[in-house]
Amino acid sequence: TADARESMYLVSEFAQRYFQDVLHNTEEGKAIGYSYFKERGFTSDTIKKFGLGYSPEGYEVFSKEALGKGYQLEFLESTGLTIVREDGRMADRFRGRVMFPIHSMSGRVLGFGGRILTNDKKVAKYLNSPESDIYHKSKVLYGIFQAKQAIAKHDNCYLVEGYTDVIQFNQAGIENVVASSGTALTPDQIRLVNRLTKNITVLFDGDAAGLRASVRGIDLILEEGMNVKVCTFPDGDDPDSFARKNTHESLVAYLESNAKDFIRFKASLLMEEAANDPVKKAGLIRDMVTSISKIPDRIQREIYVQETSRIMDISEDILQNTLAQIFQKDI
Ligand code: ATP
Ligand code: MN
Ligand code: MN
Ligand code: MN
Repeated sequence: TADARESMYLVSEFAQRYFQDVLHNTEEGKAIGYSYFKERGFTSDTIKKFGLGYSPEGYEVFSKEALGKGYQLEFLESTGLTIVREDGRMADRFRGRVMFPIHSMSGRVLGFGGRILTNDKKVAKYLNSPESDIYHKSKVLYGIFQAKQAIAKHDNCYLVEGYTDVIQFNQAGIENVVASSGTALTPDQIRLVNRLTKNITVLFDGDAAGLRASVRGIDLILEEGMNVKVCTFPDGDDPDSFARKNTHESLVAYLESNAKDFIRFKASLLMEEAANDPVKKAGLIRDMVTSISKIPDRIQREIYVQETSRIMDISEDILQNTLAQIFQKDI
């Protein structure tokens, strides 16, 4: 019900203030959490802007504090902040992690991402709030509340993978940036951006591993009728680490000279892959034309058919026929 959801918002907002308070005003928070953020190069203004916090290591410190303040266990549990074990004992979901609150477009706290402070591969680096009546992962973009005005103003939105990419870009003076937070992009997420701008620039982590999979997800953005550019970073860098190494000016210059139209980028990527293998190339043409088929505007499709013909060195007729086949199959 609406009342239950409101109670969930209130307990989440309490948690956000609590984690923030622990970060700034306790020995543990300062020594562990605050110094972690400082080491990552976050200024205190940035830490405040994103409402960052720290969850203490104690087993149920947060839960007890919340109950003491009159918040009900029911809502601590339904937001996932408290886990009630089989023996009835409470456990805080987030313990000994730096906390990234996740806001709705209008600034309400929906959930959290919590990061461990080490790079221990045995423990999940990020732990997130579970799906709940207020937190639907597939409908949320991290940073949208802080970014919305800048997105409208610049008529462009940068889409990155992680929390820290969003934060580091802000600190570098680029505020029109949101993150999908590691999940595959969804139509609902794209529509959030589409309300503010028709232009998206997708920034990939510089680890080739995820590139093919991420490229596939971009068809969804085309389907929404948006203009998509993509930009990669040097091997081993993600937007966060790259921004740290650069000034505002050199970052902006890098983005301007390396952002490529998505269809052109994909055509070149596939060409590299097919190299001199004609059989492989035949398969990739279908992949390429499938992307083009997602573009709602007929004239734009036409232009991309011409471009692809040029880049992939294949006749326009063949591309047109493949396009017609794909549309046929849809009907
Ligand atoms: P950092 O710079 O803090 O190491 P990152 O943001 O660069 O983190 P990536 O490994 O690039 O981390 O992952 C991108 C995003 O995917 C993260 O910001 C987080 O939202 C999500 N993610 C990563 N690892 C996990 C995990 N183990 N569980 C849940 N989500 C994760
Ligand atoms: Mn990555
Ligand atoms: Mn990353
Ligand atoms: Mn990173």
